[in-house]
Amino acid sequence: MDQLKPSCVNSSPLTPLTFLERAAVAYAESISIVYNSTSYTWSETFARCLRLASSISSLIGIKKGQVVSVLAPNIPATLELQFAIPMAGAVLNNINTRLDAKTVSVLLQHSESKLLFVDCQLYSLVLQSISLFPSNMNPPVLVLIEDESSVSFSRNLDFDECTTYEAMLVKGDSNFHWIRPENDWDPMTLNYTSGTTSSPKGVVHSHRSLFIITVDSLIDWYVPSQPVYLWTLPMFHSNGWSYTWGMSVVGGTSICLRKFDANVVFHAIAKYNVTHMCGAPVVLTMLANSPCAKSLKNPVHFRTGGAPPPAPVVLRVESLGFIVNHGYGMTEVAGVVVSCIWKPKWNKLTANVKAKLKSRQGIKSLGMTEVDVVDPESGVSVKRDGLTMGEIVLRGGCIMLGYLKNQEATSKCMKNDWLYTGDVAVIHPDGYLEIKDRSKDIIISGGENVSSVEVESVLYSNTFINEAAVVARPDEFWGETPCAFVSLKVELKQKPKEKEIIDFCRERLPHYMIPKTVIFMDELPKTATGKIQKFSLREIANGMGSL
Ligand code: ADP
Repeated sequence: MDQLKPSCVNSSPLTPLTFLERAAVAYAESISIVYNSTSYTWSETFARCLRLASSISSLIGIKKGQVVSVLAPNIPATLELQFAIPMAGAVLNNINTRLDAKTVSVLLQHSESKLLFVDCQLYSLVLQSISLFPSNMNPPVLVLIEDESSVSFSRNLDFDECTTYEAMLVKGDSNFHWIRPENDWDPMTLNYTSGTTSSPKGVVHSHRSLFIITVDSLIDWYVPSQPVYLWTLPMFHSNGWSYTWGMSVVGGTSICLRKFDANVVFHAIAKYNVTHMCGAPVVLTMLANSPCAKSLKNPVHFRTGGAPPPAPVVLRVESLGFIVNHGYGMTEVAGVVVSCIWKPKWNKLTANVKAKLKSRQGIKSLGMTEVDVVDPESGVSVKRDGLTMGEIVLRGGCIMLGYLKNQEATSKCMKNDWLYTGDVAVIHPDGYLEIKDRSKDIIISGGENVSSVEVESVLYSNTFINEAAVVARPDEFWGETPCAFVSLKVELKQKPKEKEIIDFCRERLPHYMIPKTVIFMDELPKTATGKIQKFSLREIANGMGSL
């Protein structure tokens, strides 16, 4: 046995980029992308990516390891660049399109981006962010993306200095020998997590971790060959949880949408026979509460994560014909690494119980060697009793290399051989994990830990409530008490009062968990990734002082 050693025959670097080469043969004539009246096959997509990679490398002169950024919605160019930028040897940085000019400027500077692909709808924002660059720093070269539905934005703009995306693509070489990683630990992507102006946390992933997460995310969701995938999850959000590369593994068709709109989504599902889609729970809420919500002709698999999906919302969308798959992850692990694997024996349970089971986060994916819930002080695993809370820690192949130029933040979360997530959870006796809160969101009332997630789930079961979030309000006697922020369904003629909402919770929750305050808002504030902005709600609650 001792003579058997790894060699270059069996250790060539793992990278999700090879999936596209394979798709170009296996699914050559199948449709890869559909966007309005544009569509491509997998062999065309491969050729276009090679051309782009050749232009990025030879025409613009981007060197291996340099950062190339993208600021664009879910359009074909964004999908192509997921392959083309790393195929040119560069590091792909997808920037969140909902950020303001100042934050975009900070990210472009921090990443030292050499080139930026920008959709013409976001071009003015980019000019603003570039104007904020210090005089001794060169801004990135700009390449402008125009398409049939965005030309109206570009009409009044003057972008002589920019090359356009299609012009650059045409100049490229479709026989280009794309630049393979020398080692699968070579960095491939950079993604900034939200909340970024002061000390940016740019998560860097290797070709290896992205290979593993891509395959993992298909297996854990049982994605079959040639699905029709509707892009309702932003591609900038952890590279669309890796399904950008994943669709090339299974020869799927990506249906691109410039913007999320519930009506357009229901229409697209019917028109294209969509089989799969992903989104944060807020997307489920928007679909469930949309006036145009209708029962689907064929079931659609919907993977949700990024925040806890309230069981009542899962129940509502499943009654329309969506089959919810729930997973947990974070940018630091490149996507979903814990998922609620469904057991056949649960099929005979009532819809209510099933929805509750589905809203648990679940068990480790194949790419994770270990997932545990530990006491954050001692590092000792908590009891598997469904009651004892601890912090989720992760270990495995999908974990990031670290944060770019931020050793302090890296060592803070990657320590004692684990990634500390800052998420508070319990493990049930059946081994399934359930998140109770983020450690900073947990409410401590009279010494009891109140899970805001549990209180929110009860609020979501109230038929008047559209969105709900619960945070701590300071209290002289209890220390903190739960304070609920809710938005009501628009079509309501008679609005419930604070007392009715509190009484509703009283019938369903232990005394210490009942919100003592209910604040009504037209819409709850969201982060750039569509999560409810608890920190700004906390500020409001703090500002109100003690009850
Ligand atoms: P951020 O929200 O910090 O910008 P991410 O988008 O990477 O960054 O989100 C990761 C966080 O989202 C996790 O640490 C966790 O708090 C939360 N999260 C992700 N998936 C779930 C889930 N299924 N249930 C509950 N919380 C989740």
